[in-house]
Amino acid sequence: MTETRIGHGYDVHRFTDEFSTTKPLVLAGVTLPDELSLLAHSDGDLILHALCDALLGAAGAGDIGQHFPDTDPNLAGVSSAKLLAQVMRLLARENFFIGNIDITVIAQVPKLAPHRQSFLDSLSNLLNIDISRINIKATTTEGLGAIGNKEGIACHAVVLLVGKV
Ligand code: MG
Repeated sequence: MTETRIGHGYDVHRFTDEFSTTKPLVLAGVTLPDELSLLAHSDGDLILHALCDALLGAAGAGDIGQHFPDTDPNLAGVSSAKLLAQVMRLLARENFFIGNIDITVIAQVPKLAPHRQSFLDSLSNLLNIDISRINIKATTTEGLGAIGNKEGIACHAVVLLVGKV
């Protein structure tokens, strides 16, 4: 017998005032060439953070802040791909599998559409699932609000988990 569980995750990170070569822009596990840095305890990969929260939410397992506190010095600068790998191990222990994922990134800058295939390839690799189970969209806010003012990037992720009960 199987059951399906839905989860939603949301994250936002602001850009730093100055670009730092030690903090390149990493989204969905892909390092982008744009000279933009995000303020974060980790690598700032808000797509993976939203995804972790959606996965944890669907599994009824809390949120990313509980599992990986931003006060933990061992997590300073950590690759969010490592956090996602830990979340995936937790799901595997609970016999949950990913049905599908739908992600919406909200950014005025940089232009994300050219990286869509790289994001899909990376997510497929990190999650060990077929690309056909992953969808990622990018939108702007038409210049409205903080994101429209190029102050940061936000992301929503929705996940369907299939569990064996
Ligand atoms: Mg975050």
